[in-house]
Amino acid sequence: MNDFIPYGKQIIEDDDIEAVLQTLKSDWLTQGPKITEFEQAVADKVNAKHAIAVATGTAALHCACFAAGVTAGDEIITSPITFASSGNCGLFLGATVKFVDIRADTYCIDPQKLETAITAKTKAIIPVDFTGQPCDMDEIISIAKKHNIPVIQDAAHSIGAIYKNKMVGSIADLTIFSFHPVKHITTAEGGMIVTNDDQLAKQCRLFRTHGITNSNDDMQLVEQASDNENQYLKTREADSKAAWYYEMQALGNKYCLTDMQCALGISQLKKLDNFIKRRREIVAVYNEAFSKNKKLIIPFQETDRKNAFHLYMLKLNLIKMDKSRRKVFDELRAMKIGVHVHYIPLHLQPYYREKFGYKRNDFPVSEEYYDSALTIPLFPGMTDEQVQRVIDSINQVVS
Ligand SMILES: *Cc1c(COP(=O)(O)O)cnc(C)c1O
Repeated sequence: MNDFIPYGKQIIEDDDIEAVLQTLKSDWLTQGPKITEFEQAVADKVNAKHAIAVATGTAALHCACFAAGVTAGDEIITSPITFASSGNCGLFLGATVKFVDIRADTYCIDPQKLETAITAKTKAIIPVDFTGQPCDMDEIISIAKKHNIPVIQDAAHSIGAIYKNKMVGSIADLTIFSFHPVKHITTAEGGMIVTNDDQLAKQCRLFRTHGITNSNDDMQLVEQASDNENQYLKTREADSKAAWYYEMQALGNKYCLTDMQCALGISQLKKLDNFIKRRREIVAVYNEAFSKNKKLIIPFQETDRKNAFHLYMLKLNLIKMDKSRRKVFDELRAMKIGVHVHYIPLHLQPYYREKFGYKRNDFPVSEEYYDSALTIPLFPGMTDEQVQRVIDSINQVVS
């Protein structure tokens, strides 16, 4: 009965398994029809023109930064309260990572502090929809437009979330999702970039496959494309390029998602609305239970957006407590409640400290948040009994 309750967990049902098995029996294990089918389904779901499926959410951020034009010597901006990928995607391309502190209430990037971090070298702004609540996209986009900088929304937590009646995925220049098993829907590993911009989509696709293309319209060295070079140069007729001919036009990566994974993704996506519904139900029960405990601070929600609730973050009101966060954490783990902490501020990681000289007190709001944050279990497969056990355990440990 008292099993360990993790902070997140996927739901895989028979129809999901059947979808993968069907693909295994088909001609295409990878680079086949399930990929475009999954891409189209996600694009439709989030109201975007293009979707590009890739191997991970991290790969999606890497592709998006490449498409945005990030290159060596540039700067990208994100917030410290995020997973390493939101900064690393800039590092992969030789850029510097600048941070902007979070809002004390939403834990998302503070648009009021954004403009001072922008320089002539800033090539991408990467707001992170932390816990699944969309960032202040209107404010962020208006600042970005003024400086002509692309916005890459890190929506690894927020597929299915809504910002001022718009689906996340239809708002920023580029938006990325992750399909890691703890996220809303899963392909084991997987990610997706969505965009309404034809050119950005094309760049993402190019980067996904080594920077290689064989599209007739995109050939740069057309004279190599045909045994009859003059005719090709004159007419650029589709059939004048030899079928074997392709070009590597940029240094991309091998970031494809397989057909097996996309088949799983298609099946999972059908369940997204129900998964989010259950997450919101649990959140309502948590909010009701924890708002009565004066030592706990429940997550603040803006009324003009709908959180998809990847995470439920409690903040401990430490000045009212005689226990440290560490003690609360250890006691709950001993009771088999899979609490966690999201995230250690990225600027405080050894690699970032060493590379950029970041230190404690650089981003005080993020650090204060981190010192008192506690992630508690939230996933659609949680039973009412498990939810109650989490509540009772927390109220017992923090009393
Ligand atoms: C999970 C996550 C990612 C990376 O996704 P992967 O699929 O694990 O590579 C990026 N950003 C945030 C905020 C995430 O939570």
